[in-house]
Amino acid sequence: MRDFLAGSKGMPRFKKKGRHDSFRFPQGVKVEQKKIYLPKIGWVKFRKSREIEGTIKNVTVSRLAGKWYVSIQVEREQVVPNHPSRSVIGIDLGVALFATLSDGQVFMPVDSFKVCQKKLAKQQRNLARKVKGSENWKKQKSAIQKMHAKIANKRNDYLHKLSTNISKNHVVICLEDLKVKNLTRSAKGTRDKPGKNIAAKSGLNRSILDQGWYEFKRQLMYKQTWRGGHVVLVDPKYSSQKCSNCGFTSAENRRTQANFNCISCNYVLNADLNAAKNILAAGLAVLACGDIGQDAA
Ligand SMILES: [Zn+2]
Repeated sequence: MRDFLAGSKGMPRFKKKGRHDSFRFPQGVKVEQKKIYLPKIGWVKFRKSREIEGTIKNVTVSRLAGKWYVSIQVEREQVVPNHPSRSVIGIDLGVALFATLSDGQVFMPVDSFKVCQKKLAKQQRNLARKVKGSENWKKQKSAIQKMHAKIANKRNDYLHKLSTNISKNHVVICLEDLKVKNLTRSAKGTRDKPGKNIAAKSGLNRSILDQGWYEFKRQLMYKQTWRGGHVVLVDPKYSSQKCSNCGFTSAENRRTQANFNCISCNYVLNADLNAAKNILAAGLAVLACGDIGQDAA
């Protein structure tokens, strides 16, 4: 509250039923094939999505869109494996193309939100017409939450397939160190410094959130750790303006969104592929210095 009054932070949020419906058991949990014992609750039927390896450290029960989930944290010894691949790759993350790899592979965005956006807006209007707190309002609210969960599931499914594929095939993955969170917050600005191009930026921001760059990066990082690979984060400065062929850097090189055309050496290339090649080169430079960093190890 003090930070809020000083103007440096937003209004504190009150705890409320339905916002973070979760609780944790630090001990006393037992698991069998199709049921789990939770202290004070007893045996509960559940679907075990994967085998539990190691000792259970704690268990978190949470509710999302009307469904209950249980996450089991375990501890076990593991030898860091040798990554099967020797390949090093650079990835450019974008809006029109979700990911462009420096070897030329391209992955389209999912846009799961865009597809459902109209339907969701209609459901929202339906909710607004209902008496807040009434049975019908609650029903509508839960339908909306389910839609949101569906959108998120679709997106995560896609991101997991993609990150697993890339992580399996490349021992080192170079990525731009995009401050996704900063980017997504900047549109509105602060009271003293209102943001510019709010409408345009919030459109871009929604697309960024929809595509989950941040989540994708997170998945790549832990999957690389599992396989004994690495993620190298590089400075995104100029990666879109620099010529990957001769190194000449200028905003003039980028006359259109899709194409890169070097005004110094006449090199022509898809702009995202050019950026991916720059990211790879910057990553290799980091590796040559022997400084992979805490983040990426
Ligand atoms: Zn050039």
